[in-house]
Amino acid sequence: MKKGIHPEYKTVKVHCACGNEFETGSTKDEIKVEICSECHPFFTGRQKFVDKGGRVDKFKKKYGM
Ligand SMILES: [Zn+2]
Repeated sequence: MKKGIHPEYKTVKVHCACGNEFETGSTKDEIKVEICSECHPFFTGRQKFVDKGGRVDKFKKKYGM
């Protein structure tokens, strides 16, 4: 095995903008993300980051929800 060809794959902490931290495997020392499984609307059902323009409210009004 030659060194330097494959970066070392290790466990790193991922810091999310929501304050959540979790670990994942990466070749980087540190990872910062703006969205994670704790705050992503897809996982939470909330529209914390995506729905800044109130599109969901318009949608709800349009369909009488
Ligand atoms: Zn997050």
